[in-house]
Amino acid sequence: MGKVVIIGAGLAGLTCAKVLKQGGWQDLLLLEKSDGPGGRVCTDRVEGFRLDRGFQVLFTAYPGVQRHLNLSALNLRRYRPGAVLVKGGRLFLLGDPLRDPASGIPSLLNPLASWQDKLRILQLRAQLARRSSEQVFRQGLGGEDTSIRQFLQRYGFSAAICEHFLYPFYRGILLDPDLDSSACLFAFYFKMMAEGPVVTPALGMGEIARQLAGHLLPEQVRYQTTVEQILVQGGKVRGIRTRAGEEIAAEWVICATDALQARAWQQTLLKQVSVPIPTQGRAVTCLYFSAPFSLTRGGYIHLNANGRGWINNWVELTQVSPQLAPAGQHLYSVVVLGDPPLAEEELVQACRQELQVVFPKAPLQQLQLVRMYRIPFAQFVQPPGFQAHLPTAFSGIQGLLWAGEYTHQSSIEGSLRSGEQAAEWVLKSRGA
Ligand SMILES: Cc1cc2nc3c(=O)[nH]c(=O)nc-3n(C[C@H](O)[C@H](O)[C@H](O)COP(=O)(O)OP(=O)(O)OC[C@H]3O[C@@H](n4cnc5c(N)ncnc54)[C@H](O)[C@@H]3O)c2cc1C
Repeated sequence: MGKVVIIGAGLAGLTCAKVLKQGGWQDLLLLEKSDGPGGRVCTDRVEGFRLDRGFQVLFTAYPGVQRHLNLSALNLRRYRPGAVLVKGGRLFLLGDPLRDPASGIPSLLNPLASWQDKLRILQLRAQLARRSSEQVFRQGLGGEDTSIRQFLQRYGFSAAICEHFLYPFYRGILLDPDLDSSACLFAFYFKMMAEGPVVTPALGMGEIARQLAGHLLPEQVRYQTTVEQILVQGGKVRGIRTRAGEEIAAEWVICATDALQARAWQQTLLKQVSVPIPTQGRAVTCLYFSAPFSLTRGGYIHLNANGRGWINNWVELTQVSPQLAPAGQHLYSVVVLGDPPLAEEELVQACRQELQVVFPKAPLQQLQLVRMYRIPFAQFVQPPGFQAHLPTAFSGIQGLLWAGEYTHQSSIEGSLRSGEQAAEWVLKSRGA
């Protein structure tokens, strides 16, 4: 059994290491350029607050999550199912009466969604329940894949429910302002939300990475170690070289970096590339505000249903997990799609003004920015049919495997699945 070097301690690299260890492979080394595990799923501590690097949630129904995370050890806090639609300064609850009976009456009376739309939601839910997660991810409801926008129109949802609920909700999940993404993803997320709670660990999403990293021995992981080069000789991998110049020999190298780094190596190492690693990304900006007062109740995601403005969605995080802020403080996460061409203070003011319309009497000048994250590459672009155009784990070079969301889906599920697949490839080789 030779050495395995895994590059990148995002969720893909961490899952890969976990599956290898559980398969009895001890000689492995995980190298990560930053100072901790998690990659994009990381929680920073700032002035007593716990801030995820961009607003993220965990869908507990993800099949990979069920296989690889010990959910009960994560001290999970649930978001309330559904959302609050914010329109013209008013709040309209659209909950899920099947899972949250308390939201039933206001949701049924919500004037922004017709009875026909509410029945269509139930019909779609029943149709998706009859298909496996894998089927839905690959084929949606069947037939040729289209964009989310087209799918929603063809399915018969009214313009009103699209504009007020479905568009802003799915823009927030896929970070895709035009909703050109694959309708299979719409169906997949819809199914995930119908089949399990949407949660965050009480201490932030970074706890997921910490749990996975806990499977490794201290000598099996090195942080602040950037891999500069993957070494290949005679069509076979022989190890890596770090930026500090150290060479580490390995029988297997698993590249679990972000897509941009992986693609750069794919271009330099392979003469012919049949399936390029996708590098077109989606950006998002997340602002965390604190205030000494609470504005909402219940831990609902709030959606901008006005069809204009900078904010797409926001949530009072401390309604979901009070442990994310110091005592007496309330934490708000505000999501703006893309990378707006505004200076930080301009964007902060613009967000305050939009919130002030909703809460005209609240002293929102006391809403303090804790930190703003501009994330240029949060997810990769996933157009209709994208599943057929992603690379597999096998790179084409003996001993070099790809593991990163980009082999499956731009999500936590995609990263867990990709890490698992690369590890299984290595474990199978031992059997062979
Ligand atoms: C703001 C935001 C919101 C999101 N929302 C959700 C959500 O709600 N639900 C969901 O399921 N998904 C969400 N996602 C997507 C999800 O976070 C990602 O799909 C997933 O974390 C990707 O994991 P990964 O391991 O493939 O890549 P990464 O997390 O990018 O990990 C790659 C790692 O490789 C390291 N690395 C890169 N180059 C080198 C090198 N040369 N040497 C050593 N190390 C290197 C990096 O430092 C990094 O740690 C969101 C992402 C963002 C950013």
